[in-house]
Amino acid sequence: MAFDGDSAGTPLVALDHEELVVRRGRRSGAYTIVAVHSTALGPAVGGCRMWRYVDSAAAARDALRLSRAMTFKNAAAGLAMGGGKGVICADPGAPPTGSRRRDMLLDFADTVNALDGRYVTAEDVGTSAEDMATLSTATNHVSGLAREQGGSGDPSPFTAQGVEAAMRACVERQFAHIGGDLVGRSVAVVGAGHVGGALAQRLVGAGARVTLADIDPERKTLADAIGADWVEPTEALRAEVDVLAPCALGGVLDQTTIPHLRAPIVCGAANNQLAHDGLADDLAALGILYAPDFVANAGGIINISVELEPGGYDPDEATRRVATIEDTMRTVLDDAERDGVAPLAAAYALARGRLQEAENTLNPTG
Ligand code: NAD
Repeated sequence: MAFDGDSAGTPLVALDHEELVVRRGRRSGAYTIVAVHSTALGPAVGGCRMWRYVDSAAAARDALRLSRAMTFKNAAAGLAMGGGKGVICADPGAPPTGSRRRDMLLDFADTVNALDGRYVTAEDVGTSAEDMATLSTATNHVSGLAREQGGSGDPSPFTAQGVEAAMRACVERQFAHIGGDLVGRSVAVVGAGHVGGALAQRLVGAGARVTLADIDPERKTLADAIGADWVEPTEALRAEVDVLAPCALGGVLDQTTIPHLRAPIVCGAANNQLAHDGLADDLAALGILYAPDFVANAGGIINISVELEPGGYDPDEATRRVATIEDTMRTVLDDAERDGVAPLAAAYALARGRLQEAENTLNPTG
């Protein structure tokens, strides 16, 4: 999976979390961290990121920030899961391999176990399904295992399904006057990796005209195979298309790129597409419908939620639930229209409402 660029130097993180565990591993000496932002809706679920940080404080800050984001993502998706995040501080240089990697993972498993089930880990930037298998030898609180091991496997196809579902709701709203479906709509997918590639294929199947872009020229073979146009990423961002689907790194929408956007809809998989949340209002003022990324890209975590249920993983059930993202997106757009706010504010309000309801149930006397 890609590094989504969302670790870049956010100096302040409000501390409204339930728990922060920072431990120096007894095997590797590396710091491993788990931040639990909220368990109001259920055990906190969020990936384990293995990354090189300037120092352990920066890593803890990242865990705090990302765990809060998971609370909102899981709540907006209607999941009975809270928000948490794990971090393993990697050594400088190349990612660890062999016994060094194993020691770091087992140290992280100790940290996960210290939370006694209040945090369940999963794959994230810098970790793989294989790493989840290693973790599962030392902790039960792990998801995202391979299908052969009873897990939910690669989340990317489900994330792509969810982005398509969110896009349908956006197209229905923005192109109601001409039928409002994906047939004949032009979509620029920026980033042709696990999610972007699967999304592009789905969109072609749905009758859309797809333009694909990636910094890796080898991905052009996919464009050729599915009959998509191929352009450079900067050109794709400025393309005159119906929908722009950012599926590479975070922070792609900022003060320099927004003035050049010509797509009336932005709906993609990348995490943290906006350089900062205030830009959602700028996009709305320009008449651009921005689908909140944490609503559009929730397919992967919804897939994992099915794995965590007592009955075990069922891909059909996962597909059915991921499809509900279309309705969630409609609700967000309806609420935004009703309240005269950008869809991002409406998505946060939806998540906050669910959290408040859960808090009220947990503490009925207030
Ligand atoms: P990936 O690494 O498989 O694909 C990313 C692709 O983007 C690569 O092909 C890479 O070459 C390309 N890329 C990098 N920089 C680029 C640039 N500047 N312009 C154009 N292309 C560029 O990653 P992925 O798993 O497909 O994830 C894509 C995004 O979606 C990430 O932001 C990720 O955090 C987010 N996301 C993924 C999932 C999932 O299920 N994989 C779930 C939620 C969110």
